[in-house]
Amino acid sequence: MVGVLDGKVALVTGAARGIGRAIAEKLAANGADVALCDLQADWLKDTASAVESRGRKAACFAADVSQAAAVDTVVSGTNNALGRLDILVNNAGITRDTFLLRMSEQDWDAVIDINLKGTFLFTKAASKLMIRQKNGVIVNIASIIGLIGNAGQSNYAASKAGVIALTKSAAKELASRNIRVNAVAPGFIETKMTEALPEEIRRKMLEAIPAGRFGRPEDVAEAVLFLSSDASSYMTGQVLNVSGGMVM
Ligand code: NAP
Repeated sequence: MVGVLDGKVALVTGAARGIGRAIAEKLAANGADVALCDLQADWLKDTASAVESRGRKAACFAADVSQAAAVDTVVSGTNNALGRLDILVNNAGITRDTFLLRMSEQDWDAVIDINLKGTFLFTKAASKLMIRQKNGVIVNIASIIGLIGNAGQSNYAASKAGVIALTKSAAKELASRNIRVNAVAPGFIETKMTEALPEEIRRKMLEAIPAGRFGRPEDVAEAVLFLSSDASSYMTGQVLNVSGGMVM
């Protein structure tokens, strides 16, 4: 079967579950071999099997995205195991929600380190390789919260607004090197990250979604596939909103 990503190699962070796993499966289903990164390599076994069941190669890497040395090892390991790196998806992310006055320095630092610094570290390491290859695509998973803010999520909102600003700046720096950098801003997607929310908050959120349903990880994966493929070859520095119309 011919796929739009045939011959490409992708690297997806936070790929053990949720949106990251759906992205890895979608890219593999469209022809890419996929390197998978999460905190423990063991947790990636199911995603790796799903990639391989589509006839593609998978390589698993245990790394904390906020640690520079580990990030460099994942990027060079991807190149060694799969031969190149065409598509980087910065998806790993966490929340530590609480109101501003109760937010500890640790809650702030953890979210900024993983969501924003992790995206910076992978973008820097991957773009060095992509510049040598003379092509590449980077897709950062931001959030609509980075566009509109949210009570109880100052750390998360700041991290995702930072990811959007990083996306635009990197896009400007790297466009002349044939590297495109875009972001996807999901709305409310049903994953482990959102399942812990109280029923009352879920009900209020649903009322605010014109499409009348929560998003699925596959909805985000479709947008990532589009931004990873040549179908979006004249797009860079953009934020694609996948929120059922929650933010327009
Ligand atoms: P998830 O189900 O919690 O999955 C995130 C994955 O990233 C987990 O496997 C997690 O491992 C891993 N991870 C966390 N910290 C890491 C680190 N330091 N290094 C490497 N991997 C790490 O979350 P999700 O809902 O799929 O979210 C994926 C991305 O989409 C995040 O960037 C999130 O902010 C964004 N997003 C989600 C929604 C939503 O509604 N779900 C909306 C907008 C944006 P652990 O098991 O250790 O946590």
